[in-house]
Amino acid sequence: MLVVVKFGGTSVADVGRIKNVARKAAAKKDAGYDVVVISSAMAGITDQLIGYLKEISKNYSLREYDQLVSTGETANVPLITQALLELGYSAESFTGVQAGIKTNDTHSKARITAIDTERIKRALGEGKICVVAGFQGFSPASGNITTLGRGGSDTTAVALAAALKADLCEIYTDVDGVYTADPRVVRDARKLAVISHEEMLELASLGAKVLMPRCVEFGMNFNVDIMVLSSLEDKPGTLVTSKELNAGELRRKGIFTEEKMEKMVVRGVASDKNQAKITLRDLPDRPGIAAEIFTRLAGANVNVDMIIQNIAKDGRANISFTVPKTELNTALNTVNTFAADVPGVSAEADEDIAKVSIVGVGMLSHVGVASTMFQTLSNHGINILMISTSEIKISCVIDEKFTELAVRVLHDIFINGLGQR
Ligand code: ADP
Ligand code: ASP
Ligand code: MG
Repeated sequence: MLVVVKFGGTSVADVGRIKNVARKAAAKKDAGYDVVVISSAMAGITDQLIGYLKEISKNYSLREYDQLVSTGETANVPLITQALLELGYSAESFTGVQAGIKTNDTHSKARITAIDTERIKRALGEGKICVVAGFQGFSPASGNITTLGRGGSDTTAVALAAALKADLCEIYTDVDGVYTADPRVVRDARKLAVISHEEMLELASLGAKVLMPRCVEFGMNFNVDIMVLSSLEDKPGTLVTSKELNAGELRRKGIFTEEKMEKMVVRGVASDKNQAKITLRDLPDRPGIAAEIFTRLAGANVNVDMIIQNIAKDGRANISFTVPKTELNTALNTVNTFAADVPGVSAEADEDIAKVSIVGVGMLSHVGVASTMFQTLSNHGINILMISTSEIKISCVIDEKFTELAVRVLHDIFINGLGQR
């Protein structure tokens, strides 16, 4: 039996907590598991390193960024390992390179392409607890260190669990599970006992930072169940799974669901302030214009999210779209170059926006969810700037200053009962 346990930044924030993590990993070993530990950097370290880099240059090299920010995790794994050795366990630390985590070349948001598990397997075979630095990998093509994007240690954990065919993948964090909304924003948010990969992927992609979206994607594609737990309190967590578990199976796993939870149409409310809106005005209304703009943006590696085009008037149309704030500069450079090539076109950006979303597979079979959402926002004087829907989610772009209010009122309506049908 093999378990992968991942600890986030707050769970390894100081020496006391590092010793706590070592004790937790040791307890798993005592319970008869082979154990792989994934660690993040200490809380705040990654931000601090990025801050230093930005002080030196606004236009920093992404290769140097990866080389720098990966050190937060690199520094932590020998500390956890030493704490395990101190407890009398056999253990060894590994960087992403040593753990065989291969990625593509996209610095700062690299994708794992393969994992060579030989070295980890050998160490596990020797009875060692393997302590692996999360968030980092390397590109075999360039030989460079890469990182997987913010929150990337989650992805290291699930990807390694998949590659090693682990029996369990546990993500320990500073909350005791996945809630119906960020419990730091909505005080009466409820802990979900179980959530499907599909719903969790939407929630994570729409801003619920408790899990990185890419890790949920791995879980979905490789059928890895993920248990989200608190590293500080001994409480039942949330199981992320694609299996349909009946009440008996859930109880055997130590999971208790409330009847009401099962009937929820909306399973979660999420928000994302890392959004910016770009509007291109007076575009000539002819075939190929949209293709040209978005091909250029894709070429610049910009992730475009919502897109709206209005009906053309006098042969000219406007297009608005959203991008992550972190990619706004690149996106603006790209559209400004485009605008310079097409006479009369202008571009403008709005950074003070946010996206609020509701997620739930129950929406598929319920009418009136969208209208309830729009009415609720309007009742609180919140103007909707953009809307996008899929089968299991509805997102609205709003003024950033209303984010918390919007999340609370939507949670009240959809989770606390007023919006149930
Ligand atoms: P770690 O450092 O352990 O990876 P993160 O800070 O990345 O932890 O993620 C945990 C945080 O996610 C919580 O402290 C919580 O504020 C936030 N969060 C946002 N949405 C949710 C949600 N729906 N359920 C639980 N936590 C959430
Ligand atoms: N340390 C990295 C970050 O802060 C990765 C992680 O914590 O998962 O984003
Ligand atoms: Mg995280």
